Amino acid sequence: MRIPFYDIKAQYTELATQIDTVVHEVVSSGNYMLGPHHNALETEIAALHGVKHAIGLNSGTDALRIMLDASQIGHGDEVITTAFTFVASAETIVQTGATPVFVEIDPDTFMIDPARIEAAITPRTKAIMPIHLFGQLSHILTIQEIATKHGLLILEDAAQAIGSHHHGVYAGKFGISSALSFYVTKNLGAAGDAGMILTDDDEIAYLCKSIRIHGMGRERYFYDHIGYTSRLDEVQAAILRVKLTKMLEWNEKRVAHASLYLEELDCNLVRLPKTLLGNNHTWHQFTIQTPRRDELKAYLAEKGVDSMIYYPVPLHFHKPYAEYGNGPGSLPITEKVSKEVLSLPVHQHLQPEQIQYVIEQVHGFFRA
Ligand SMILES: *Cc1c(COP(=O)(O)O)cnc(C)c1O
Repeated sequence: MRIPFYDIKAQYTELATQIDTVVHEVVSSGNYMLGPHHNALETEIAALHGVKHAIGLNSGTDALRIMLDASQIGHGDEVITTAFTFVASAETIVQTGATPVFVEIDPDTFMIDPARIEAAITPRTKAIMPIHLFGQLSHILTIQEIATKHGLLILEDAAQAIGSHHHGVYAGKFGISSALSFYVTKNLGAAGDAGMILTDDDEIAYLCKSIRIHGMGRERYFYDHIGYTSRLDEVQAAILRVKLTKMLEWNEKRVAHASLYLEELDCNLVRLPKTLLGNNHTWHQFTIQTPRRDELKAYLAEKGVDSMIYYPVPLHFHKPYAEYGNGPGSLPITEKVSKEVLSLPVHQHLQPEQIQYVIEQVHGFFRA
């Protein structure tokens, strides 16, 4: 049996007729930018997350960058986040001229440990950027309390958290703004790059819309800010709208697969991921931990099971980010987790028998 980690083509196959129809419709319409599908996608995602504004963009990375710019984060500012995330989280902070401050993670959820945030706050701290990693929200209420107490902004990296909520309050409702990614492998993935900012704040929404087209003001070809070219194109928007009709169902399949793993994987053999109280989990990744990670990965590969390591090297180990950390050993939990994590296949196009097969192979490895 071969268990692929991703199966992007299966998403197309399931929706081929509808996707072909909308792609043809858009391409033949000549309306490629900020057209009806784009506007409808913004409305649909805003409604799903219960926010006032959604701003379609070129990528999740641009969403982070533009929302940092819109909140005027830059030189001299510090932004508290973690080193256990996709590089874009810290990269965009550094691009603005601000300094990312890496705080330790909670090893059960891989996300910022809220008990360690206050110790990292200085007079220069302007914002906290929690990463809603692997499909669930961070310890968001505690983070909100800390932000309120210290007068800090919250900028949510919700790139992996579409459809994720805490007691029914969705990602994007806790911060001043929030970034979604529609990268190919995300739970809602485009046929290329795309992203979105969510916000309830009218002024931030206006700024983000302006920055995505070169900082253009209310009048065409008059510029109020330095901006970018970062529109979400109409073909991608049309494809995303088709996939969005399936997304909740697809997320439910991921939940079913994750439940099987949680029920059947022996927690004495591997450390299992935890869902925070009050959170749903959309299982962008199902990530276990074991000190024998590399051996297990090789064993699974031999048995036809693909697995991935998110993330093998914490950000403060990489050359461009080393100066923002305190060197190896400074974030022992982050560093240990990076050596022990292994993400198992959990995507919606797997069958329960395939998940069962993965479980048997994991147990087989530890028996051998
Ligand atoms: C995917 C991702 C991003 C960046 O999104 P892109 O659309 O790939 O630019 C940012 N942060 C996290 C946590 C991500 O997983």
